[in-house]
Amino acid sequence: MRQFKTESKKLLDLMINSIYTNREIFLRELVSNASDAIDKLEFKALTDSSVDLGAEDLAIRLSFDRDARTITVSDNGIGMDEAELDKNLGTIAHSGSQAFKEENAEHQGEDIDIIGQFGVGFYSSFMVASKVRVVSRAYGAEHAYAWESDGVRGYTIEPAKAGERDGADDHGTDVTLFLRESTEDEDLDRFLSEWGLRDLVKRYSNYVRHPIQMLVSKSREIPKAEDAPEDQPPAYEQYEELETLNSMTPIWKKRSSEVEQADYDEFYKSTFHDWEAPARTVSFHAEGALSYDALLFVPGRAPFDFYSKNYEKGLALYSSNVLIQEKCADLLPDYYGFVRGVVDSPDVHLNISRETLQQNAQLRAIAKRVERKVHDELATMLADDREAYEKFFESFGRVLKFGIYESYGAKASDLADLLLFWSAREGKMVTLREYVLGMKDGQDKILYACGESRERLEKLPAVTSALGRGYDVLLATQDVDEFMLQAMHVYHMDAVAGDAENPGADARDLEFANVATADLDLATQEEKDAAEQVAKDNEALFSAMEEALGDKVSAVRVSADLTDAPATITAEGPISLEMERVLSQGPEAGMLPKAERVLELNAKHPVFEKLVAAQAAGESDKLALYASLLYDQALLVEGLPIDDPVEFAKNICSLM
Ligand code: ADP
Repeated sequence: MRQFKTESKKLLDLMINSIYTNREIFLRELVSNASDAIDKLEFKALTDSSVDLGAEDLAIRLSFDRDARTITVSDNGIGMDEAELDKNLGTIAHSGSQAFKEENAEHQGEDIDIIGQFGVGFYSSFMVASKVRVVSRAYGAEHAYAWESDGVRGYTIEPAKAGERDGADDHGTDVTLFLRESTEDEDLDRFLSEWGLRDLVKRYSNYVRHPIQMLVSKSREIPKAEDAPEDQPPAYEQYEELETLNSMTPIWKKRSSEVEQADYDEFYKSTFHDWEAPARTVSFHAEGALSYDALLFVPGRAPFDFYSKNYEKGLALYSSNVLIQEKCADLLPDYYGFVRGVVDSPDVHLNISRETLQQNAQLRAIAKRVERKVHDELATMLADDREAYEKFFESFGRVLKFGIYESYGAKASDLADLLLFWSAREGKMVTLREYVLGMKDGQDKILYACGESRERLEKLPAVTSALGRGYDVLLATQDVDEFMLQAMHVYHMDAVAGDAENPGADARDLEFANVATADLDLATQEEKDAAEQVAKDNEALFSAMEEALGDKVSAVRVSADLTDAPATITAEGPISLEMERVLSQGPEAGMLPKAERVLELNAKHPVFEKLVAAQAAGESDKLALYASLLYDQALLVEGLPIDDPVEFAKNICSLM
């Protein structure tokens, strides 16, 4: 007996004993696999002239045997040879298995839908079956092989028995499930019936492109004999007929007015292995020189591997009903990489390879339209359903931001209006436009603060004093934020057409300004004059403090902006403190330039008088101690590490 790989074992165990309630999805998973296998064979036929499918009927067959308690899903697709059976069914062949383990460690005991989340496909059979037998014959192979397992101990692979796929060219796969007994709270017997299977196909697999067929029993009236008496009751007979259970028209070919959202949701869930319905669905069609149908989905939340290297973006690309590429990356820009969906165009060449895709003008044209559609859909969602948009943004806002950053701001014209930031004044997420429309008279910059957490930023002296003066501040807490804002440099706001409430909403460009940089200029003229006077009067004090702090700071100054705090640290030059923090987490931390720090003092604070007094009394040791303490506490308030905690502790003691 061959053993399952470790992760597979754990997963199987979980699946069989899981509290997972939606066991019926097993059929959809098997049917999808069967459909994929037919896709693969069709594709092979197109690219390999030795494959001749002729007039063969490619189809998926369902059957069941109530007495033996079996359900069989068969296909005449590409099949698997012995090695493929071992590789494909012996491991959970998903990049997700590692992630699964980690995620699972975190969610012990929670009722999460692991199956949907990780798309473990074939293994879902074991939710309903105590044994699974897979007989498969690869296209072109002489013999079939049988894989069998109880899902617990391991599995066996042996040559198939006589009668099992041993006819001429009998390629394809039969998956037979030996159903468990029903229990009090779990009726599995319903799957051993025509209506049970028909119901599952309708609900979960209606839009599978290949026919899903089943022999169904029907009854018909037996024609009466010519000489039968008038009042003879009609007689009926039973007969069997192969019936196609699914509608087969690909759902993306239908107009959205003909499709219920529930059908879109089901298609999305089964095709993209998500357990949550999509947040948005976009269907569009083009006709003319280049015709195509497209169906796009914005997921409700990020898949578990979305922010990992393993995530592959792309749309499924079909041409004339054949799947050309499962994930055609060229159809989606990176910043919309979360979009799932299908593009189907008879005009796209079949023998397309990755290289030619990039140069393919038709694909480029489709990609452009896809991009616009996604943009418009997101903009609509933002306008119509703010709550859902905020949820979306929580999952995917980061990729939009990266889009701006990586394009050096070039994509800002498309993406800036899709961004949300936390407004310190409003206590909620706002768009840049909303920020601008709420600006104080005379304000000409968008103020923001960057740091690790909102709670911390809200307490920063630079933020509280800006708020105290009536300026709103956007609080940015993602690593990418400040890099993106610097790449953008300005926010271009379009005029608000017909916005009578906001006559000042003309088109204009607004610069971004970090409240933690030196030149904010929020103070009134009076305050500025006063600060200037203080600066003049205390030149000696400032240079004494600069000397005491040495190369920790590039300057000590008075700030007209501060209101409550005694002092703050700001940065001059191109590197801000937040950027320094983010960069210092990277591998080249030691070699990177540091922010030029400025210690800014609040001349209205009682502490300042102490400094002046110490300077006047010629107590240079005391002044150095004060300078060092003020510098360290300002760093702590900013959430930055202090250079020498031991020294800081000593200083506090000596002060006491
Ligand atoms: P997934 O379909 O998500 O890749 P599964 O666990 O459902 O994962 O299946 C694992 C692999 O087994 C598939 O990728 C495919 O290569 C192979 N497989 C499963 N069912 C069939 C089938 N009916 N015909 C051919 N290959 C199959």
